[in-house]
Amino acid sequence: MKEINASEFESEVIKGGKVVLDFYSTECPPCEAVAPKFEGLSKLYGEDIKFLKIFRQQSRELAEQLGVKSSPSLLFFDNGKQVGNMLSGGIKRSEIIKELDNMLSESRQQEIKSHLKSSISEYDVMILGAGPGGLTAGLYLCQSKINTVLIDIALPGGQVSTTHEVSNYPGFIEPQPGYMLSHNMSEQTKQCGSVYKVAVDVNKIDLDKKEVIIDEFETVKAKKIIIATGTSPNLMGVPGEKELKGKGISYCATCDAKYYNDKDVVIVGGGNSAVEEADFISKFAKKITMVHQFDAFTANKQAQEKLFANPKISTLFEHEPRGFVREGDKIITEVENLKTKTTSKLISDGVFVFIGMKPNIELFKDKLKLDQWGYIKTDEDMRTSMKDIYAVGDVISKKYRQITTAVADGTIAAVAIAKEMD
Ligand SMILES: Cc1cc2nc3c(=O)[nH]c(=O)nc-3n(C[C@H](O)[C@H](O)[C@H](O)COP(=O)(O)OP(=O)(O)OC[C@H]3O[C@@H](n4cnc5c(N)ncnc54)[C@H](O)[C@@H]3O)c2cc1C
Repeated sequence: MKEINASEFESEVIKGGKVVLDFYSTECPPCEAVAPKFEGLSKLYGEDIKFLKIFRQQSRELAEQLGVKSSPSLLFFDNGKQVGNMLSGGIKRSEIIKELDNMLSESRQQEIKSHLKSSISEYDVMILGAGPGGLTAGLYLCQSKINTVLIDIALPGGQVSTTHEVSNYPGFIEPQPGYMLSHNMSEQTKQCGSVYKVAVDVNKIDLDKKEVIIDEFETVKAKKIIIATGTSPNLMGVPGEKELKGKGISYCATCDAKYYNDKDVVIVGGGNSAVEEADFISKFAKKITMVHQFDAFTANKQAQEKLFANPKISTLFEHEPRGFVREGDKIITEVENLKTKTTSKLISDGVFVFIGMKPNIELFKDKLKLDQWGYIKTDEDMRTSMKDIYAVGDVISKKYRQITTAVADGTIAAVAIAKEMD
């Protein structure tokens, strides 16, 4: 692997044959997450593809010319031509492999893969999920000098990093941008010395053996596991939703509201998330229609008062979406009036859905005792029904799912484990 500067771009990249180029920055957690994957793959694919990196801050003009807008960004070149997809942000190892493979013949891909050596690493505690629950557990365990690894399929931070503003996390007088709060939590845990394996593919979780396989070749073992995998947004399950997911239907206001400047938006839902995110989306959108199945919102009173005072937002109670279609630039939402059973159409530029969450338990759900909604049952020390397996945060069976409660669960599990291991 070699570092180049902008003046070497022509000779090293354009005339360089098959090349992958990493635009990185300093003080960039996603760059730190991708660096070991890039280095590992350079050893595997290095005979066929040149692995180069370039410091983005010192190569601004070149980065702009190539359409690089964030760090890290990986660009692939074959004989001077940019090929494949540019990868940015929380890049997974499997995504890089896919692009590298596309530059090689099938037989060569097989040959390279045959050299892949699996690896095993061992820790005292493995935490699955680096949201507030997992990060807090990681911090306490690390401060107790317990060898801990945090594994996440995304970058650290969990749902907080996609929440535009957090006003109820104690210790901050002013509301905090969610990404900042999660960044601080993550850095605090990392600085203590916990090992991070983030933006990885989690292929298999074996709770009996306390083993997890990541990125297909690496086995991570631990004496104890804390499950902190949180929840994911519920889908509505109506025609057109899957097809338009990410192409007009969104589940994350922080990520996508900015694309709806001066546009018409439909929001589905009526709980805290829907009502609070509607307020945020209204900073961009021209007009918002809230579609909710009941005759009143279930969000807290303060949030509701703010919403009803917002002239951009109108409500459609006792209605439910029945399907979505795209017509040109517009999304047509077919809604049913639950009282009259008649249907009508809402025309908008985009749809946001906030209709609750489901626990992320797919890879181990048959092993643990769950409540009737699929959340993991725990005791007061956050122990699950399996020995040495703990669970914390939104993924457990409890009444209130907030950052403070996830943080509290993480604390309890870590202190209980530290006492046991003492
Ligand atoms: C839109 C919205 C706004 C919110 N606003 C607020 C607010 O203002 N105040 C407040 O207190 N709370 C708020 N919440 C709730 C709060 O975000 C959650 O309670 C909190 O993030 C839960 O933390 P957690 O660590 O349990 O899970 P999460 O934050 O969900 O983190 C779980 C982590 O696990 C990872 N993961 C998932 N599956 C796997 C796997 N198989 N292997 C490894 N890792 C995995 C995920 O990538 C994620 O990083 C909001 C939630 C939403 C959706």
